[in-house]
Amino acid sequence: MFEPSSITISRGALRSNIAFIKEQLGPARLCGVVKGNAYGHGLEHFVQLALAEGVDYFGVYSADEAWIVRQHVNARPDLFIMGMVEGDGLAWAVEQGVEFCVHDRDRLEHAVAQAKKQGSKARIHVEVETGMHRTGFSLPDLEKTIPMITAAAGHLDLVGLFTHFAGAESRSNHDRVISQMACFERARKLLEDSGIPVRYAHQACSAAVMNYPGTIGPMARWASCNTASGRTQRPGCGTA
Ligand SMILES: *Cc1c(COP(=O)(O)O)cnc(C)c1O
Repeated sequence: MFEPSSITISRGALRSNIAFIKEQLGPARLCGVVKGNAYGHGLEHFVQLALAEGVDYFGVYSADEAWIVRQHVNARPDLFIMGMVEGDGLAWAVEQGVEFCVHDRDRLEHAVAQAKKQGSKARIHVEVETGMHRTGFSLPDLEKTIPMITAAAGHLDLVGLFTHFAGAESRSNHDRVISQMACFERARKLLEDSGIPVRYAHQACSAAVMNYPGTIGPMARWASCNTASGRTQRPGCGTA
């Protein structure tokens, strides 16, 4: 590397911003999202800093990223793989009790097969597609998948049901966010009515924590590195 770049993280700013977010969340669980090498801040370094400030749960992108945290961080925080996990990576995640996203039937099948093989449970978060149009089960797909989830109950630990809002950072998407919330509620009800308990039904991403605090519920996914380099502005206190 002839032109190395470096990044400086202020421990003080991180401390005050994590405290601010925790205050917003109240008793809700904070999932510190650190995907993409902690948004370029350096995954293991950032996780160490955030751990020291009391974050004990992290959302990573892939099994590779989860592996890096397990390999380089002494503490064993709970981990949630939000993106890529398949093959050996999926087997490893099940073995380690690392949580991961299940966004379609294929992955659900792989998760169950792997958990059966290991005589354990896969710790999963089922993703519902409510309007982001990226990944996740549509409501009809989810409904069709319920028998499969029920049948595999002995091999699944359904940690979460979640969705990702499209554009919760902008007021102009208000109607869309409201309709996503309604759709998510229907998905939650669908599982509940089928006798499938969900520990964390989580929909709040970073923008929703600020703009739609009513969506926080039992847990929120916060892009932690938002808090790394500058101070988070309280709503209404920003400067122009
Ligand atoms: C990336 C991601 C987040 C955190 O980023 P936001 O800025 O809040 O969008 C939260 N949830 C999911 C599912 C993500 O992929």
